[in-house]
Amino acid sequence: MTGAFVDPRVAVLYASQTGNAESISHSIYEAAVKRGFDASWHVLDDHEAFGFNALRTVVFVVSTTGDGDPPDNSARFWRVLRKATRGSATAYAHLRFAILGLGDTNYSNFCNTAQRLDKQLLAAGATAFYPKGLADDATGMEEVVEAWIEGLWPALARVAHCAGGPPGDDAVDAAADALAGLAVGAEPAPGAEPAPGAEPASADGGGAAHEFQPLLLDFRPMAALKAISGAPRVPEPICAAVLPDADAEKRYWSAAPQLESLACPPWHDGVAAASGAADEPSTPFLARIASAARITGPEALKRTLLLEIELPEAAARHVRGRWHAGDAFNVYAPNDARLVAATLERLGVGARDARRPQLLASADPAIKLPAHLQRFAAAPASLHDMLLWTADLCSPPRKVLLRVLADACSEPADRDRLLYLCSKQGPAAFDELRRQRPTVLDILHAFPSCRPSAVRLLELLPPLVPRSYSICNAPHESEAVWRVAFNVVEYELEVVDPFSSAEDPEDGAGPRRVRRRGVCTPWLEALARRAAPAHVLVALRPNLNAFRLPPPPLPDGAPDPRPVLMVGPGTGVAPFIGFLQQRAAELARAAQPADAPLTWLFFGCRTAAHDFLFRAEIEGRLASGVLGRLSVCFSRDPEAREEHGAPRYVQDAMLSRRDEVAELMLDRDALLYVCGDAKGMGKDVNDAMADILCGYLASRPARARELAAQLPPARAPAGAADDAPLSRAQALQLLALWTAQRRYLRDLWA
Ligand code: NAP
Repeated sequence: MTGAFVDPRVAVLYASQTGNAESISHSIYEAAVKRGFDASWHVLDDHEAFGFNALRTVVFVVSTTGDGDPPDNSARFWRVLRKATRGSATAYAHLRFAILGLGDTNYSNFCNTAQRLDKQLLAAGATAFYPKGLADDATGMEEVVEAWIEGLWPALARVAHCAGGPPGDDAVDAAADALAGLAVGAEPAPGAEPAPGAEPASADGGGAAHEFQPLLLDFRPMAALKAISGAPRVPEPICAAVLPDADAEKRYWSAAPQLESLACPPWHDGVAAASGAADEPSTPFLARIASAARITGPEALKRTLLLEIELPEAAARHVRGRWHAGDAFNVYAPNDARLVAATLERLGVGARDARRPQLLASADPAIKLPAHLQRFAAAPASLHDMLLWTADLCSPPRKVLLRVLADACSEPADRDRLLYLCSKQGPAAFDELRRQRPTVLDILHAFPSCRPSAVRLLELLPPLVPRSYSICNAPHESEAVWRVAFNVVEYELEVVDPFSSAEDPEDGAGPRRVRRRGVCTPWLEALARRAAPAHVLVALRPNLNAFRLPPPPLPDGAPDPRPVLMVGPGTGVAPFIGFLQQRAAELARAAQPADAPLTWLFFGCRTAAHDFLFRAEIEGRLASGVLGRLSVCFSRDPEAREEHGAPRYVQDAMLSRRDEVAELMLDRDALLYVCGDAKGMGKDVNDAMADILCGYLASRPARARELAAQLPPARAPAGAADDAPLSRAQALQLLALWTAQRRYLRDLWA
């Protein structure tokens, strides 16, 4: 029951880590306004400014990150929601809501943010006016998202006033009808002509310095189609470019030369202002790359760099006492400048025009600009800088982008192919396109007559979001320096040419190898190589999981006595290097010489010779007794495995010491920290822990019963007969309980 109250207003709220939920929520907000709802759009963390507690009709779009964590830009909101709903079954009885969750079933706790939000709001008396949608990136989220949005409108019209009149329950309007069957080979849409004054695009990139990668897609199934249907609607333009007045232009040009030398957005002061109150610990600031070194050998599979980032005095003061070993920080990185230049060239924007300052205005004054473009409404920037710093040119394309690009083609063949890619008939081709991880430049080159305006592209691409890295030192050691270890992300994809013949090995058949690079790490590497000092824009990232060592419990300064197990293969070891520094400092500072509580590190690498990260530091801690035990695994080094009797992976090492691990967790109140890859290692270690607990408790039924009594009744999977004293489902519940009690902490990275 949603009640009879019809709200004059609707709020569309989002929490987004990579910009997807932000883009989707903006499209919902825009469509709501166009349909006649009085809609507003906000990020959850601005809850005070938009008065969340007074809202009555809300549409949430929320994503999930890491190990089921909410996005950073909802951290403040969660704290307030928890407080407001604690023990109250009516705190939000006035609220009607709908939730669209974005997630990925490759990771544990699928769509946990949406699920948690739903549960908490319902428990506090709120009503869902429309069933929640959970979109899975593993299988392609677009279908769920589109269908959910389509069904939202009639549901929303029942609880909120719509000046355009309520749509019918089937939510089909004229625009959808027009799109339902697009004839193959139809004339290009009006407005598809190349931009005035632009040269026709050459197929080879027109001498652009950045190489595009040809896409290998099979459009042959199109031949059998009479019509293409189910492509998304074309969103109306959001932004219009405006030239600034003479004074603003003069100010712009006088500031420009000083900014060229900094590796940060020209509006970096504005980034700090836009990120929240200036006294927030996560306020961005410029910091110098003080040193850089490669810490993997030349034959290692990955190139791992260790950078030292020196905090300027004011910033070090600002974050003093607010950061700890285990925290991470964000780096604001640009797109590859050559990619930006080549993209602008491909769009027909000449070098002069690309550097001219422009302002962005809302194409419809009733609709707010997307958050990452709002600053350009007040202060001009060049198209080049806007594309360089704010639009993600490498994110997997969304169907709506392809739909708009289709309308920007002057050749029917290009238009049809783009329509096919985003249609109901082309999901296989769409998946293949995304699998090839194309840049927007690759897509433009694959459809030579496609010539959207740069501003249209800018508004359709997701925001370029900062990248996070763990700090691998402790403040006791160096208060004004953050050390960071990361792999330079460069990899090759195998792409099968659909036109090659597998039977003829001479025709170049077999997969082609396509090189791809990350956005931030190759850029940091290039900066670190420069002779001139480099500054980057960074910000402390809120540590939502409290992934930290507990502080000394007593005033004598002696460390927390509980044993600590740390599991971190590869660069997942980074925060533990800081933990060990912290522990060393605590032991040194203790009033009485303290016995070091047990610390046990499980580290994994490929070979002993090439990628045993921080080896000297780790072995030094072992020698000094700060680290009590060390288990190192070598996944691709049979000799080292034999020599050290080491298993392949960290979870294998834990299983090989299963009784000790179980005893520490069950009988000695140990803390377990896991850091690294969420998809593989994080899940596997969790499974290994469940096995360890079940196995250990199999011969201790009394202890198993005692533990089971603390757990909610477990629902056994259908058909599973599990007579163990502690079933596997109960073991998983126990792990979840320890997570809630902050004894089992995971810092998992997607
Ligand atoms: P990596 O080099 O890919 O792998 C390290 C070791 O883990 C290798 O021996 C690898 O073996 C093994 N491994 C592969 N699959 C595994 C599994 N399912 N279970 C256990 N071990 C497995 O590690 P990495 O690239 O450094 O990745 C670490 C993760 O930590 C990344 O997700 C990264 O984002 C994250 N992280 C980064 C930072 C940072 O600040 N840069 C901080 C914390 C965490 P094989 O390859 O031989 O199979």
